[in-house]
Amino acid sequence: MSAQIINGRELAKKFREELRSELIELKERGIVPRLEVILVGEDEASKVYVRNKGRACEKLGIQFQLHHLPAETTQTQLQSLIKRLNEDPSVDGILLQLPLPNGLDAKSALRTIDPDKDVDGLHPENLGRLLVGEEGPKPCTPLGCMALIDSTGIEIRGKKAVVVGRSNLVGKPMSLLLLQRDATVEICHSKTPDLSRELRDADIVVVAVGKANFLRGEWIKPGAVVIDVGINRLPDGKLTGDVEFETAREIAGAITPVPGGVGPMTITMLLHNIVQLAKRRAQNLC
Ligand code: NAP
Repeated sequence: MSAQIINGRELAKKFREELRSELIELKERGIVPRLEVILVGEDEASKVYVRNKGRACEKLGIQFQLHHLPAETTQTQLQSLIKRLNEDPSVDGILLQLPLPNGLDAKSALRTIDPDKDVDGLHPENLGRLLVGEEGPKPCTPLGCMALIDSTGIEIRGKKAVVVGRSNLVGKPMSLLLLQRDATVEICHSKTPDLSRELRDADIVVVAVGKANFLRGEWIKPGAVVIDVGINRLPDGKLTGDVEFETAREIAGAITPVPGGVGPMTITMLLHNIVQLAKRRAQNLC
């Protein structure tokens, strides 16, 4: 039987409607969330991502300010801008668009962001909060994946989840979120000797590798929920995920498409995070 195709666009629409009512409440208290985005250089994909984030904010009525810096920007200049935004009480969230041009150190730039304005949840303090189960902004893509998994109705508790990929951006925080929800979690990576063996009894599979059609349909346990984070451009210009979609959909119970799966939910969770940060500002004003 063919899998349920998890519609990320529809789910994103539903979440954004919920955010709209939270924004109305904030507005009544005189607060309009404000996101500052820093883009350094001319990376074309980054420009598209930033434009999409800006549009999504504007549609919801979130203030969006872009700081587009030249590729020659120095580390000191970048970090002084971040520090200035940290100190501005009207700024709720700061997002540093990655990757940075060669010569700039993303890790120390990310560390400069005030953890309480870290809308992407990538500051080591926020990743640490996630590890120990404390409140704080969480990385947007894994948060979106959790919402996609929940939308299938699967009970996460007690299920075996395999996360393929161990980046700080996706794989590691994803495994922590699944662990928090009482899944039995396994993380696989490029040195895992036999991925097909690890996947054989996985009820939930999240793949974030960055290789087109890498995960074969036949490796999936029948009925499993499969979340494909990968975004890969094929030679013909089309986008595809990390999962061999056509074979996987015949075996999985539910699967996200690419595009139209994880992508829309990642931006939605960015909006969610900025609203939560603004709500915290509202509380502090009380
Ligand atoms: P990344 O930092 O390059 O990490 C890739 C991970 O895949 C690494 O942990 C790597 O293992 C693992 N890997 C590579 N080859 C493997 C193999 N043969 N078997 C098992 N694991 C293997 O990438 P990322 O930032 O996590 O992103 C992954 C993909 O998701 C990319 O396509 C990216 O564009 C996409 N993405 C999409 C969204 C979205 O909103 N849809 C958001 C973020 C990322 P090692 O650690 O051992 O090298």
